Amino acid sequence: MKKLVVITGASSGFGMELAKEFAEDGYPMLILARRVEKMEALNLPNTMCRRVDVTDQETFKAAVREAEAKYGKTDLLVNNAGLMQLGDLATQDPKEWQNMLNVNLMGVMNGMQIVLRDMKERRLGTIINLSSIAGLKPFPGHAAYCATKYGVTGLTEVARQEASAYNVRVLSICPGAVSTELLGHTTDQGIIDGYNEWKEAVEATSITATDVAKTIKYAYELPQGVSLREIVITDTRQD
Ligand code: NDP
Repeated sequence: MKKLVVITGASSGFGMELAKEFAEDGYPMLILARRVEKMEALNLPNTMCRRVDVTDQETFKAAVREAEAKYGKTDLLVNNAGLMQLGDLATQDPKEWQNMLNVNLMGVMNGMQIVLRDMKERRLGTIINLSSIAGLKPFPGHAAYCATKYGVTGLTEVARQEASAYNVRVLSICPGAVSTELLGHTTDQGIIDGYNEWKEAVEATSITATDVAKTIKYAYELPQGVSLREIVITDTRQD
């Protein structure tokens, strides 16, 4: 029988595509984001949609417990919710740094803490955290975003080491640039223009959110005794 899958940030991009992929195979799901109406509009079967800001651990936890009461314990948590506000370190508004620290780091840590204790007790479960290619190598204009994604890469590996003896998988996926709503939060026009030029150059064969979603699902559906640990997936022509 298929077990409960929890996906954060399912109102657009990777999270939304992932929810559709799992729904096709009949998984029970809890999908979370602030724009609950976008998730409800998907009308996915066997799926609970909840308005959750991942920076608020209490609301996040309440939604997970509610879904677990209905569908059974969480078998997969995908910490996908994230925010990218690019900017030059010398000039960027520190509020933007704080937003990214809150969502990209605290949100992921909140999610892991909500499910890890149960997973370790049951000796079963998988957590997949969305890091980024920017969590493995630096890019100008990405200081705070890189800091959060390097953080996700690091804390995922720590969690993996803490959970591995309990048969629990914790892994990170590090995608390269993919067209989603992610760039929409950046306010620096020079950086937006640079990205768009790059995207136009590779448009013909660019990697899609569906490719990333299928990869996450593949990693999860491997036997519990097989852990991919860290997946890097990019457009073939990305540096
Ligand atoms: P999108 O902007 O399309 O989606 C981001 C999702 O996160 C939305 O559903 C949004 O929902 C949700 N979200 C943002 N803030 C919060 C919050 N405080 N609480 C709950 N949900 C929140 O981006 P992508 O799909 O591209 O990104 C998904 C993940 O993949 C992110 O972690 C991103 O950093 C990472 N990534 C993306 C890459 C890309 O090129 N696209 C490359 C590498 C990594 P809502 O606004 O409704 O709350």
